[in-house]
Amino acid sequence: MLTPTDVATIGGDGNGDPVDGHRFVLDRIPVIADYLGFEAYLVGGPVRDRLLGVTTTDLDIAVVGDAVIVAEKLASDINGRLTVHQRFGTATVTAGALTIDLVTARRETYSSPGALPDVERGEIADDLARRDFTINAMAMPLPASVGELVDPHQGQADLESGLIRVIHAGSFRDDPTRILRAVRYAARFGFTIEPDTATLMSQALAARAFSTLTGDRVRHELERTFQESDPAAPLRLAGDCGVMTAIHPALTASHLPDVGETVTPLAWLAALVWPLNADEGAALTARLNAPSDWARVIADTARIRALASSIGDAAKPSDVCALLDGMAPDALKGAIMMAAGSPIADQIGRYLSEWWSVAPRLRGHDLLALGVPAGPEMGAALRELRRARLDGETHSVQDEQELVRNWAQVSDRTTR
Ligand code: ATP
Ligand code: MG
Repeated sequence: MLTPTDVATIGGDGNGDPVDGHRFVLDRIPVIADYLGFEAYLVGGPVRDRLLGVTTTDLDIAVVGDAVIVAEKLASDINGRLTVHQRFGTATVTAGALTIDLVTARRETYSSPGALPDVERGEIADDLARRDFTINAMAMPLPASVGELVDPHQGQADLESGLIRVIHAGSFRDDPTRILRAVRYAARFGFTIEPDTATLMSQALAARAFSTLTGDRVRHELERTFQESDPAAPLRLAGDCGVMTAIHPALTASHLPDVGETVTPLAWLAALVWPLNADEGAALTARLNAPSDWARVIADTARIRALASSIGDAAKPSDVCALLDGMAPDALKGAIMMAAGSPIADQIGRYLSEWWSVAPRLRGHDLLALGVPAGPEMGAALRELRRARLDGETHSVQDEQELVRNWAQVSDRTTR
């Protein structure tokens, strides 16, 4: 059972040390709500995580009443930043490391599968009934000292059995993004997708539920998966369940490696799209309505893979630079993950750690002083100096000056 002391330490390190300010916020919210005649509950992730004994950084609050008014007052009390989504009756308050999401308790209906729901204000029970899984559908009334856990869908029992279970049979059809959420929680907590839920998941995928989702919604869930501490596990599980091919027929996840260290989210995107060719990558970019950073990682990954053997065979650092200059760093990091242990990964690793940043010792004004005119010749001279430095042909300013003098004579002769 969740005790008031448990709640006071939510967001802490699991040993009872609260993240600064959580305790104050959890005390303050019910005072504000009570004054306004509303009820406030801690809901979803923080309740689940506390019962599991793991750390949460964000607080999720449901207000029976109007969450936006509570959020405005809270933001002014803690000098936080307020973002309001009036249409959904939700707001976010951030202050330092604290993020508090407040939602107006609501009832949801789906006019068409995969679309965003129609919402109207409701009681806490309505709000819990619209949620994705039983383990995320528990609420703790605030202040924590007065009430008992509200758990109408037996979330606590599922938490103890390690089960991801939907609240009703139409859940995945209403919102297929929940399929990606299910694999994310299953992988993160080492839980099992409860058999009936797994069947509903397969049925929704077989009925092409994903095709009802906008690119933005699919991308958002993928992004959250890339941000997990070990994204390979949920991505592979998603692949096994058929989620990847539902996003794009060429997409798989079985090739993803286990990676010891933390990798940037977009490097995971690069690793995921590694098997795709340029055309498939372009189709995925369109499907996901991808912004420019994603589009660039996807396109550059296909280019790097097409160049892979040349990269591995390149004899000189300048050859590697000629192949890789301008590529998105996350695409290069993804390629290292996928080619780990091979000369290709070694070359890309050295490119990222040293070669890309190598610049000539001489600057433009030095070259002007040596008689190199501004314009294309200057650019060519600087490139030649970089090449020579990369390949270890110059070791000092003097070497570079000499190279420029010789080079200027050569180009003089050839241009005359
Ligand atoms: P995480 O640790 O991944 O942030 P969380 O439980 O806090 O987990 P959020 O995505 O922050 O997850 O959402 C907060 C809560 O909102 C969830 O616990 C869940 O109850 C509900 N929720 C979020 N997305 C959906 C969805 N697509 N369908 C139904 N309920 C959802
Ligand atoms: Mg959350």
